[in-house]
Amino acid sequence: MYHAKAFSAASATSPLASSTIPRRDVTNRDVQIEILYCGICHSDLHIVRNEWSDAMPTVYPVVPGHEIIGRVTKVGSAVTKYKAGDLVGVGCLVGADRTCPACQAGLEQFCPEVTFTYGAPDRDLGGVTYGGYSDSIVVDEHFVLHVPAVLDPAGAAPLLCAGITTYSPLRHWGAGPGKRVGIVGLGGLGHMGVKFARAFGAHVVVFTTSPGKKEDALRLGAHEVVVSRDATEMQKHAGSLDFILDTVAADHDVNAYLNLLRIDGTVTLVGAPPKPLGVSAFSLIMGRRGLAGSNIGGIAETQEMLDFCGANKITADVEIIAVQNVNEAYERLLKSDVKYRFAIDMASLKGEQARETVTSRTTVG
Ligand SMILES: [Zn+2]
Ligand SMILES: [Zn+2]
Repeated sequence: MYHAKAFSAASATSPLASSTIPRRDVTNRDVQIEILYCGICHSDLHIVRNEWSDAMPTVYPVVPGHEIIGRVTKVGSAVTKYKAGDLVGVGCLVGADRTCPACQAGLEQFCPEVTFTYGAPDRDLGGVTYGGYSDSIVVDEHFVLHVPAVLDPAGAAPLLCAGITTYSPLRHWGAGPGKRVGIVGLGGLGHMGVKFARAFGAHVVVFTTSPGKKEDALRLGAHEVVVSRDATEMQKHAGSLDFILDTVAADHDVNAYLNLLRIDGTVTLVGAPPKPLGVSAFSLIMGRRGLAGSNIGGIAETQEMLDFCGANKITADVEIIAVQNVNEAYERLLKSDVKYRFAIDMASLKGEQARETVTSRTTVG
């Protein structure tokens, strides 16, 4: 075991602060990574503040971060895919049993034994896993990804969650030439959805509550932009879309989008509103429409996505911040005041003196 620098939160009401955390020593199957950038995902904020306490109560202290880009510093003796100096990524998963039907289908994210990058039981050190708001991490090589050198590392960080979360459903539901695809919400997820849907050759319609985002949506690749509060504009698109990716995490009327689908069209949720959605049966049965959900992607598909981004020069639009500004960034995230993802420059962690050393790892709630 060794100690790494990190930013952690001690309780649901504590700010993130400098700390020292344990990491396991490299085993024969492990890759040790110096973290260069870590994106800030909305899930980080939910979990730091214990806002998903019903589904997954937060274990404190928590070190969030699952949009990790770094350089390999050391590899174990059995590692074959990586060597020191490689540019690599780590996303939302750092472990799975690799034998169950989900794993065999390349869907490790649905493995009953999945280990998420932070806040999940740590099978090696005990306690829970610690994420990417840190200067280093040690990960089994199976869960490490090659990052094409052509990509800007800060802009590539959000690909590991926001990227794969939108890439996977767009691929699964066949977004491509001849298809009309709607993207609801233009935030961290939505702006990636627009870039991918456009790159796949679909006709892309963005739905936003903010008229001010129109120009930006077009710049990102949308063919059309609809202000969703305008009933007349919405009505113009009734029955016209093959697939809609709904990225909104706040309460909203999903029927308004179901009604925009063609026969056999699907609305897929990737945002997670805290309250159940009210779905009218008529919105589904009139047109044999589907309402579905999707969660990140497996390791092989995440690598496919990164390779696609390398070939097509796709990265997220990021605002780079120092780790010392992370609490302020959370407040801005709540106001959607970022275009479109924060990426923490981990070089800013170098001068930090840890205010606390994390030793107790058992406080729940
Ligand atoms: Zn995420
Ligand atoms: Zn499995």
